[in-house]
Amino acid sequence: MRHTRAHTANRRSHHALKEARLSKCEKCSAMHLRHRMCAQCGSYRGKEVVDVTAKFEKKMEKRKEKKNMLGMGEQKEEKDTPKKLDAEALSDK
Ligand SMILES: [Zn+2]
Repeated sequence: MRHTRAHTANRRSHHALKEARLSKCEKCSAMHLRHRMCAQCGSYRGKEVVDVTAKFEKKMEKRKEKKNMLGMGEQKEEKDTPKKLDAEALSDK
C-alpha cells in the first residue's frame, strides 16, 4: 500500500545520527569514546589495558613485511619481462 509523504517523513524523523558520546581520558586527558579504551595511551578508567607502542611497532613491522613482499614481486616481474623479451628476440633471429 502506498504511504503518504507525511507518513514517510514521520518515519524518517528518527533517522538522524546522534553525536558520539565522548569522555576525557583520566591519564592523558584526550577525548575517547565512552566504554572504550583511550586510543592515545591504551588505558581504560585510568588503568593501562593495551601497550600502544608495542602494537604500533608490530603494525609497522607488518607493513614493512608487506612492502618487502610487494617489492620482491615487482622485482621478479621486472626480471621475468627482459628474459622473455630476450627469448622472443632470439627466436625471431
Ligand atoms: Zn589516554
